[in-house]
Parts: sequence; C-alpha cells; structure tokens
Amino acid sequence: MTASVARSAIVAGSRGVSTHGLIACHECDAVYRLEALPEGAAAHCSFCDAQLYKQVSSHTLDQSMALHFAALMLFIIANTLPFISLKFAGRVETDMLMSGPMALFNVGMDGIGLLVLMTSILFPLLSMVAALYLLIAARLDIQPPGKGMVYRMVRFMEPWSMLGVFMLAVLIAIVKLLDLAEIEAGIALFAFAALLPVSVMAQQRFDSSLFWPHQFCEGGRDGGKNGEINPNSALKGGLLHCHTCALLVEQSKHGSHCPRCGDHLHARKPDSLARTWALLIAAIVMLLPANILPIMTVIRFGQGEPSTILAGVVHLIGAGMWPLGLIIFFASIMVPVSKLVALVFLLFSVQRKSTWKPDDRTRLYRVTEMIGSWSMVDIFIIGILTSLVSLDALSTIRPGAAASYFAGAVVLTMLAAQSFDPRLIWDDIERCSEHDGNDAVTDALPMEQAHG
Ligand SMILES: [Zn+2]
Ligand SMILES: [Zn+2]
Repeated sequence: MTASVARSAIVAGSRGVSTHGLIACHECDAVYRLEALPEGAAAHCSFCDAQLYKQVSSHTLDQSMALHFAALMLFIIANTLPFISLKFAGRVETDMLMSGPMALFNVGMDGIGLLVLMTSILFPLLSMVAALYLLIAARLDIQPPGKGMVYRMVRFMEPWSMLGVFMLAVLIAIVKLLDLAEIEAGIALFAFAALLPVSVMAQQRFDSSLFWPHQFCEGGRDGGKNGEINPNSALKGGLLHCHTCALLVEQSKHGSHCPRCGDHLHARKPDSLARTWALLIAAIVMLLPANILPIMTVIRFGQGEPSTILAGVVHLIGAGMWPLGLIIFFASIMVPVSKLVALVFLLFSVQRKSTWKPDDRTRLYRVTEMIGSWSMVDIFIIGILTSLVSLDALSTIRPGAAASYFAGAVVLTMLAAQSFDPRLIWDDIERCSEHDGNDAVTDALPMEQAHG
C-alpha cells in the first residue's frame, strides 16, 4: 500500500512558530507535518527510517484493552500454577515461575535474584497493570491521575520486561536437563508460552495517540509556509519534542515541561556522551571477571566442575548440543562485545563530528538498543537450573561469582545504550532540502502497513 505524507519545514525565528500539526522524529529530530493516514498505516522518517507515528483505528483501544487483559490472566496462571517438574531417581522437583529468583536469593545471589525477579515477573506485571489503568480510563473518557507519569513508567519498563528472553532460557534449560532427568511441563509453562504472542500484540496496540490524539495539520499543506525554513532539526528551529506525547513545543514559551503531559523536556538527553562513556567503561570493567571467573558449578555425585562462559559453550558444542552452544555464544559473548564496540564507535563518531552515513549509524544504534536484553538469557538459565537442580547428593547447580559481574555488565550496557541520544549523530549534518527557499518541503515518504 502506498500513501504519502508531507515532510514539513520548520518555521523558525521571531515571526512566531505554529507548532500545531507538526511532529519531530525522535531519532534524528527532523520535523514533519502530521497528516491523517489510512487506518493502521504508519509514517516513517525519510532520513533515518524511524517510525514517526501510527494511525490507530477506532478499534485499537478496545483491542489493546482486551489483549492486555488476556495477557494479565495468562500471567496470573503462569505465576500461580506449577511451571515445570523434574523427575530423577524416584524424586520429583516441581518449580513455580518464582522458584528461579527465590533459589538465587537462597544461595546468596541477591543481586541477580532481584534482577531476574524484576525482569521476568515484576516489570511485566506492573506494565500490564499500568497499561490497563490508562486504557480503561481512556475508554471511560476520563483523565486519570498521574496519566503522563504512568505512561512513562510503561515505556520505561518495556526494555526491562524480558518475557521472550526468559522463554528462550526455559527452552534451553529443558534441553540441557533432558539428559539428566525426565522433564514434565506444567500448565503454567503453556500459559507462559501463550502469554508471549499475546503480550507482543498488546504492546503493538499500545500507542501514545490513544491517550494524546495527534493534532493533524489542518489548513492543507500550507501550514508552515510563512517564514524562514530550517529543515535540519527541531532544535535548530527552537522547538522541543516531547518523548511521551509527541507534542512539539516552542522552547522559548514552554520552559522545561510539556504543556500537554507534564513530561520533562530537553533538547538532547542531558550529558548523554559523558554518561554513556561512564556506563560503557564500567561495563567493560565488569566483563573481564565475568569471562574469567566461573559462572556456574555443576556438582554431580559430590564432584564439582566450575566452568566459565566460554568453557560452557565449548562443553555444549563438544556434547553435540551445538545449536544451544551457538545461542549461548551469541547471547553471552557476541552480543555484549558487539554492543560495546558499536557504542564506542558511535561515541567516537559523534565526538569527532563525523558526517559519515548518519542513517546507517542511527540504524546501528537501533539494533544495539534492541539486542541488549538477549544477553540476559544465560542469567535466566542459571536461575532456572539453580532452582530445579538441587537434588542434594545427586546433583546440584550453583551460580558462580561471574554471574553477578555478567549481569552487572548486561545492565550497564543496556543503560549505556539508553543514555546515548541518537539525535547527536545528526546535529552536525547539514540536511539540504531539495526545494530551497521559503516553500514548505513536501516529500513522499515510504509508508508501511502496520497491524491495528
Ligand atoms: Zn528520523
Ligand atoms: Zn508531552
């Protein structure tokens, strides 16, 4: 399906800015005119390809509410019924979803126990409840207290709710244990498997425009025609973009808070470069002990064999479980290392004011931000194995010291990626418009049909 949306021109300076009907790209700060699209369609930035906005349909609110409700029910089932049972030499060990973090607390690994508890249980639960709070209020057409704050909370918890990563860890743990004992899946495991697609669909239909409708451009395409045109960025046009409700406001008029949702406004993430460097260096320091010290000790019949991350991978491949070995290798070694290299490259390129391929660098950033949470898979596996395999004299699995360092490194690199502001990549790029002069710039944008 094809449709077009106009790229807008910024009207800068003292003649007065009409920000009504304009939107800025949250990844490169280019300004566009908001035009109504066919239902379900989305507009993408022509500079960096980030999604600018989506046209939700009249059913999106109801669908989102139904899906969030279904997800919450599945989540409750997944957390209250038996998850998995391990049968070994006449003994049965039954686990709940909560058993993983509890087992980590019991062996004194409070830090990673808390991390597993938050990312696999607390954050997913809280974000479902918070999303339902906003959706029900929107359905009843009331303004709920703390609307902006609750919405920001849902968005904040999104990268830290790792249901998909946890499911992968469960599957790997099951395959690893198959040679040790008989595994029986509980009802909760099936509920959890169903929860994954439902929560993804629910998230896709959770859009800020359900709570703060877009203010579409009215007077046709002449909206921003009078005045000096600066196609470079909202910032250069004296405008600030609200990350919560997507409103574009005049910097001089609205100080530091969004007039619509109350979010704190800043042109660029504060101290982005310094913070990202600090977090990255801390992550690199953590990665050293994470790879040198043993991450897990498997004790069989009283014999312990501590192993490092790499030794674990080699062992899996040697034992013929090379798909598992490759997954762990990618998630635990390749992903953290490539994330560090990518972020260091992005930081250097911004500091050197590079103008080299800003669109590709923005894409690199997007991928870096997206893949980070998959490194958690090893930590989840350790939690699951620690809770399941505690058959005393027969077999036990204990997390090693490296687990805490590794978890710390994963969290720090995720925070580093979040504190980097991709708009910095574009600040030194002179974006020339094909139509110079005082006319509004109109470009056809590639459109994508989205679900919803
Ligand atoms: Zn963009
Ligand atoms: Zn706002």
